[in-house]
Amino acid sequence: MGTAWRGTGWCFVPEVAPPSLALNDLQAQRQCLGDRIERRIARVLEHGQYIMGPEVAELEESLAARTGAAHVVTCSSGTEALLLALLAWEVGPGDAVFVPTFTFTATAEVVALLGATPVFCDVAPDTFNLDPMSLSAGIRAVQSAGRLRPRVVMPVDLFGQPAEYPTLQRIASEHGLQVLSDAAQSFGATLSTTAVGRFGDATATSFFPAKPLGCYGDGGAVFTDDAELASVMRSLRLHGGGSDKYDTVRIGLNARLDTIQAAVLLAKLEVFDKELHDRAEIADRYTAALGERLSTPQLAPGRRSAWAQYTVRTPNRDAVRSSLRETGVPTAIYYPRPLHAQPAFRHLAVVPNDCRVSQELSASVLSLPMHPYLKPSDQDYIIEELLRCVTRSGC
Ligand SMILES: *Cc1c(COP(=O)(O)O)cnc(C)c1O
Repeated sequence: MGTAWRGTGWCFVPEVAPPSLALNDLQAQRQCLGDRIERRIARVLEHGQYIMGPEVAELEESLAARTGAAHVVTCSSGTEALLLALLAWEVGPGDAVFVPTFTFTATAEVVALLGATPVFCDVAPDTFNLDPMSLSAGIRAVQSAGRLRPRVVMPVDLFGQPAEYPTLQRIASEHGLQVLSDAAQSFGATLSTTAVGRFGDATATSFFPAKPLGCYGDGGAVFTDDAELASVMRSLRLHGGGSDKYDTVRIGLNARLDTIQAAVLLAKLEVFDKELHDRAEIADRYTAALGERLSTPQLAPGRRSAWAQYTVRTPNRDAVRSSLRETGVPTAIYYPRPLHAQPAFRHLAVVPNDCRVSQELSASVLSLPMHPYLKPSDQDYIIEELLRCVTRSGC
């Protein structure tokens, strides 16, 4: 896939002056794709099957082939993907679902929507992913309180790096928990030879435009090897339908992926491997230039990240960020507050150590521009200005 696009000079991106740098340049990608997306969309406009058209099945087959997952159920967003799996498992009131507190709100939101209780755990300081020790502590705390039933753990592959699955899966099976991987940021990543999509009992991903593989709207998918789970989720995404359209066998949702979005994704999949490769190269270049002065991302052994974000840590983060802004370098803070400190979740319990690492990360992380079309000269500019701002801030 995409081999014809390897090497240099495979596409032309016009010069962009540093002040118009973007965190994620979707327009540059569109220029590189030429008219592939338009052609794919035009085909949908011709056949007119806007809902569950042939591109949806084609995409599901192609995602299954790519990851090795037995079943792929596409859906309307990454949030819906998480929700479909939890709904299918009938997670609800009285159930404890263990989530990292350093993540996007959707991870815990779906748990709370179903009336279950998110139990916030801490993350590891090097990978920013769910800390197995904190998970174990969380399970013990729930068991000894005796009020909730431990049901599911939801590791998040933060910024594109697969979580500590071998250890997390062992802990989960010791306690009879199901594992739902929140891979919204990591589609395309691998751990050893295993692709994201094959971890846990089910994996949810997102095709939100800014994710490593994004469509032109909202979209998502669930991956699983469990045929029964896949069939329940297929029913749930279509209003809980049974054998025909007006047979309703369970309470479901309208959670389908639009045919046009499937068409966009099929076009983008053609260059996805090349894009992953380029993201990794950009990350390596950042790390080589910044590693001595800043805390740069650490990959655990055997990981290949999808590099949804390239996130450094620096003490005077807010000062560094505002002086960088003046030089035209956009940055983002993922995430300025751990979820357990958000007003909507504040009343919920957190795991004993107070999620100290997550608190510290919230105060020090800074995500730099990262996308496959970031030119070396723009990267040099970002590196130079960042180092200058760090020096000026006295770190
Ligand atoms: C983006 C994201 C989601 C939600 O995906 P949507 O497609 O925006 O609904 C869930 N979890 C994490 C960690 C995310 O980054």
